[in-house]
Amino acid sequence: MSDWKLPWDGGCRCGQVRLRVSAPPMITSACHCTGCQRMTASAFTLTVTVPSVGFIVTAGEPVIGGLQQGFAHHYFCPRCKSWMFTRAEGYDQFVNVRASMLDDHHWFVPFIEVWTKEKLPWATTPAEISFDTQPAIEDYARLMEDFARRGVRPT
Ligand SMILES: [Zn+2]
Ligand SMILES: [Zn+2]
Repeated sequence: MSDWKLPWDGGCRCGQVRLRVSAPPMITSACHCTGCQRMTASAFTLTVTVPSVGFIVTAGEPVIGGLQQGFAHHYFCPRCKSWMFTRAEGYDQFVNVRASMLDDHHWFVPFIEVWTKEKLPWATTPAEISFDTQPAIEDYARLMEDFARRGVRPT
């Protein structure tokens, strides 16, 4: 557990919203879907999936932006509009934190990448496992076990 060097603090571009992660991540990923391309104004998102019990907002009040319907709720800083994390309705046990919000994220490597069928032709990541769309729900347990064993740690 201690090799994750927790807790991790993070925040938005302007610093109004701050967050803290205090539990080991479940998995790390990159998402190439066109929705993430729009919201990042870039090629893909970088995500650290953490247990909800190990995630708190320590300053500011994030607002919902991005997709305004459906089960995914995208949280942004109300001031600088950084996309900070995502919660999924019906999946209250985890939060998807955008890796680049962490003050120290230089250790981050995506373990899996998803939605490669929508990726830009040149966009590549060092992820070990790629999925055209998403892993099946029943595959996540095995992926998370794998990640717990050999996912890249903070240095
Ligand atoms: Zn901000
Ligand atoms: Zn996506």
